[in-house]
Amino acid sequence: MKRTFIIVTLLALLGSCAVQKPSGQVSNKDVERIIRTLSADNMQGRGISTPGIEKAAAFIADEFKKIGLQSLNGTKDFRQAFTITQIKPATTEVIIDGNQVDDQNVLIITDRTGINWNTDPGVEIQHIEAGQSFFNRYREIIRSEKQVLVFVDEQFASGFNHIRESVMNGHLTNEVKKGAAVFLLGVHQAKSFRVNFTNKTERIALANIAGMLPGKSREKELVIFSAHYDHLGIIEPVQGDSIANGADDDASGVTAVISLAKYYKKLNNNERTLIFVAFTAEELGGIGSEYFSSQLNPDDVIAMFNIEMIGKESKFGKNSAFITGYDKSDFGQILQKNLAGTDFKFYPDPYPEQNLFYRSDNATLAALGVPAHTISTDQIDKDKLYHTVDDELETLDIKNITATIEAIGLSARSIVAGTDTPRRIPKLK
Ligand SMILES: [Zn+2]
Repeated sequence: MKRTFIIVTLLALLGSCAVQKPSGQVSNKDVERIIRTLSADNMQGRGISTPGIEKAAAFIADEFKKIGLQSLNGTKDFRQAFTITQIKPATTEVIIDGNQVDDQNVLIITDRTGINWNTDPGVEIQHIEAGQSFFNRYREIIRSEKQVLVFVDEQFASGFNHIRESVMNGHLTNEVKKGAAVFLLGVHQAKSFRVNFTNKTERIALANIAGMLPGKSREKELVIFSAHYDHLGIIEPVQGDSIANGADDDASGVTAVISLAKYYKKLNNNERTLIFVAFTAEELGGIGSEYFSSQLNPDDVIAMFNIEMIGKESKFGKNSAFITGYDKSDFGQILQKNLAGTDFKFYPDPYPEQNLFYRSDNATLAALGVPAHTISTDQIDKDKLYHTVDDELETLDIKNITATIEAIGLSARSIVAGTDTPRRIPKLK
């Protein structure tokens, strides 16, 4: 009893000695400069495969170089380059009992180069009927990876059109799936059917921008600081503006990653290896972080600080942010402990119904058991600027961003130093 008491007292004393106020090492001016650059109109909203996103990539790599980071093993100039397949519908013709179906009522989900059906007995017929859940049935059919012709009740026009619109824009994939599902809106049966369809396939070049500070004594143990640098690019114009600048989403996070690299380079005391990475293609489904995660052993990753939208005041007011998946490990508690004596506070994610934990770039590593969490301040339930052309620098609170970055730096110190190791989280599957 006594012994425990002494140890506890000692630890408390040590703890209080270690308490430090935010260092003032991150400057408002520098934070503003970085966000301003990344969200400028000449970056064209950092859409995939545009000169704009290339400009952003070059800027981030240049910042990493000036800070004095090293490229990851096997990469050059901080570019972790890879290619991926883009699949986009090209030509469609569907004939039911001799009558051509309007293209608007056809939704085809397949990664194959084409479909050529002529009342094939191998094609299964299914229905999504009034009263069923359209999205559940849709998902079930896609996952079965069969060859299916699906008759969809007209009641589901809005859900159908929503999916159709995104499918027509094409999608990126790492693995080409074999199934083929043809959904027809407002068709209820068929004695005969013909489907002629082709996809256009293209290899797309992408790159994450990543740099590191090798650990002084525990080089194999990795701590990752990340954010995504891509955004939506050019979208539907609103009052003449069509550039989705993505100042909050996620130029603010990338700014944090660059600033933290600078912060830890200056401290120059990281026992563990720190990786700073700006991911590509998050907005297309976490493609960049998925590739990044495939290039390392998840067991080597001690923790991941993913930073997503820290541009505006959180639900809890100034000097606060939330951590997704707070209860899945003790990552949040460790961070919170390191902030004792400061004005800043981390909270558990107040929007569990939004499933944010699995909606950002931490998801791939989290699913593999890594304490990989996202830090954010966004009031996602009422953020009217989210994914609009108005997500611009002028709407952000620079001082609050700087405070958040300093809090992340300070709260991560014991993990960086190797004195704290957050608990692994349960693996998915
Ligand atoms: Zn984002």
